Amino acid sequence: MHRTALLALALTLALPAAARQVPADPPITIDTHVDIPFTYMREPRFDVGKDTPLLVDLGKMERGGLNAAFFVIWVPQHKLDAAGYAKAVDQAEGKYEAIGRMLMTYPDRIRLAASPEQALANRKAGLLSAMIGIENAYSLGHDLHRLDAAYDRGARYVGLVHVGNNDLCTSSLPDTDHGEPAMNSPGDHGMTDFGRAVVARANALGMMVDVSHASDACVRDALAVSKAPLIASHSGARAVLDHPRNLPDDLLRAIAARGGVIQAVAYKEFLKKDPGREAAEKKLQAEVAREAGDREYDSDKHDYLPAMAAGMAKIQQQFPLPTLDDYVRQIRHMVDVAGIDHVGIASDFDGGGGITGWKDASETRNVTAALRRAGFSDADIAKIWGGNLLRVWREVERDAGR
Ligand SMILES: [Zn+2]
Repeated sequence: MHRTALLALALTLALPAAARQVPADPPITIDTHVDIPFTYMREPRFDVGKDTPLLVDLGKMERGGLNAAFFVIWVPQHKLDAAGYAKAVDQAEGKYEAIGRMLMTYPDRIRLAASPEQALANRKAGLLSAMIGIENAYSLGHDLHRLDAAYDRGARYVGLVHVGNNDLCTSSLPDTDHGEPAMNSPGDHGMTDFGRAVVARANALGMMVDVSHASDACVRDALAVSKAPLIASHSGARAVLDHPRNLPDDLLRAIAARGGVIQAVAYKEFLKKDPGREAAEKKLQAEVAREAGDREYDSDKHDYLPAMAAGMAKIQQQFPLPTLDDYVRQIRHMVDVAGIDHVGIASDFDGGGGITGWKDASETRNVTAALRRAGFSDADIAKIWGGNLLRVWREVERDAGR
């Protein structure tokens, strides 16, 4: 047969099948938790308009169909003293500036979304959306005015606490090595007066309150204090995998009963217990740090080195990461317990996230496909991929009178 005729025949045979295999994307896909390194948009390797070693950059979002992400202003927890607060304020400042630099450098690819309507308008215009969330309100430096300043800069959720207790809340992972009481032990006091003031001010501003990383007691206090629905920006289900960072069923139900949303997170340790892998990763981190001439492992500095990638590939052969099936099992449980209107999606990419099947933002359509395989309808998937989060965000704005 003539080559052109062969090609035409191949096309007629292939096209209908191919078309069937590519289902429509959801109306919008929102990932509520993406971390950024401290040198984001400063070091050339973290220039997200180019190909980067990061799990989320603009090309990976565009190729994978991830329309919108909350980029996170995270700071580590240190002492509750003037020096600690000053450093945290400074570190947060650097991250706001880095996100600003991304938006200024690539205005024809990604825009800030400070409201649900802006996120949808960006989507319609074929642009990516960057939203901003705070992870660890320690970076407010114990000053309520900084919450207003954060809102003005575009922050639309405030995560109360991180690893280790702070001046707002006890943590799901308190610093027990330095004497902080274990979660749910008698010394676990939950929320402080400053924490209550931050929740009240966030309600008044129309900023979502995020209880991921908070202790069970702190989540209960937040439910009691907040006049608006809560979010958990990146959390799992404890009934499926027993980890303090995962929420127990009663709290999943309580967050849903108040109209909130739990964003299921694709973070390996919350999906599958694998002590062998954890030990192997710790050993590798120490080795890579030593080879780089450092005494301690620093995720920003060492995670994207070739030696780390090679070591992780070896570990992956012996101790495979959890899969999309493990992830969807958690989503299914959350939907069964909290309801289809109260569950969403978060990757925690560049903060430890990444599983087999959703290793970076370029594989985002695999998540949609896995949800379909698990029997979720297109309407369900639209809710899970962003509809629920946008509803809560609007509700929080409405409650603030915006
Ligand atoms: Zn986190």
